[in-house]
Amino acid sequence: MNVGSTTKDHIKEEAKPLQNKKLCGLICLRCEQIYELDDPHIDSGLGCKKCLKVGFPVGLRCLYQESMTLDFDLRKSGMFRFANNLPFLNFPSIGEGNTPLVQVDKLATEFGVHTVAIKNEGQNPIGSHKDRMSPLAVARALSAGYRKVIASSSGNAGASLAAYAARAGIQCCIIAAPDISPKWAEAITLAGAELRLVEGKERWPLMEKLVQNEGWFPVTNFHAQPVGSNPFGIEGYKTIAFEILEQAETAQPTVVVVPTCRGDMLFGIFRGFVEAVESGLISRVPCLVAAEPGKRLELVLTGSDYRSVFPVAANNMTSIDGGTATYQSKKALEGSGGAAVAVTSNDAIAAQKVLAENGFYVEMSSAAALAGLQQLKEQGRLKADDNVVLIATSHGFKETPQASLPTGTRDCN
Ligand SMILES: [Zn+2]
Repeated sequence: MNVGSTTKDHIKEEAKPLQNKKLCGLICLRCEQIYELDDPHIDSGLGCKKCLKVGFPVGLRCLYQESMTLDFDLRKSGMFRFANNLPFLNFPSIGEGNTPLVQVDKLATEFGVHTVAIKNEGQNPIGSHKDRMSPLAVARALSAGYRKVIASSSGNAGASLAAYAARAGIQCCIIAAPDISPKWAEAITLAGAELRLVEGKERWPLMEKLVQNEGWFPVTNFHAQPVGSNPFGIEGYKTIAFEILEQAETAQPTVVVVPTCRGDMLFGIFRGFVEAVESGLISRVPCLVAAEPGKRLELVLTGSDYRSVFPVAANNMTSIDGGTATYQSKKALEGSGGAAVAVTSNDAIAAQKVLAENGFYVEMSSAAALAGLQQLKEQGRLKADDNVVLIATSHGFKETPQASLPTGTRDCN
């Protein structure tokens, strides 16, 4: 495949983002093969080539020279507070991060736990957690000499990447399904990105073609058996864990529920907590729980091959829909002693209402976090001293109202 220098534009050294000196390469999550930062394969979007060759699509993660002692710069704001623990010290920014962690006592009482808090990622500039991935993915694109980025998206990732590409002054292409919400489509096109609408099954092959033949820098997954999104971008999700630890004050979380599709955010949050443990800030990684619209990771955790295609019924959680799982999700759940819970469309509708009644208007996929907590309660898996954090991934204002269920399962990106 062609990911070499012939497809890249010349970018002056001084215009490139400042790379963290401690960043020394990328490492495979499964075989631990180390890749140099200038290895063109790491920008191919295909994960570890050694594992792929033997039939295991697996993602890579950033590797740093020394143990990553947390080194927060409290004079800075947003994600820049944590830049010493990210792959780039600067990156295109529109004010992402520093989202509130809001304790909701009513829910704690209802669920019989010590605390329930909502990490409201809908307060990011484009309205979702994706605003933590886009700046670092764009920074890597610039650093590696690319001036055009591409993503396949159901909405949030596309709108976010379009905004950050605009901020960086580079080209952006978003591939989405024809039924994308008009508000997401508007956000993408107004930012100057090209929006290509193609049917679900054709999205990844089109993205693969554009990446391989036209030199676009891939930010999201396009591999039929997904590996996850750009590994530099995923590092941005560590900042969710860092912020929770800063904001939780005395009650450090014991359970964190994350609406999950390919597990980019789940894995990023996991890595953030791992670095906090390695730094001695906390004694153990909280139990991470993936809330999903059908049994995928739940089956993986009980022995199913993560490369299987899982039959997920039609549902209303567009941003986390799809029938596949990833190795990175499995790694995060197993590494945190975590769990996965499947929630139905009706569960999500009920949870969305409860969250709204408490002041949080979230996207249906975000409501899966509260619906997942309900599952944990029904399964008797919550303890009276648990401190629960629900990740509300995205606000509800741009989503098409879910009057009826979609007729078929769609992939989230
Ligand atoms: Zn590998």
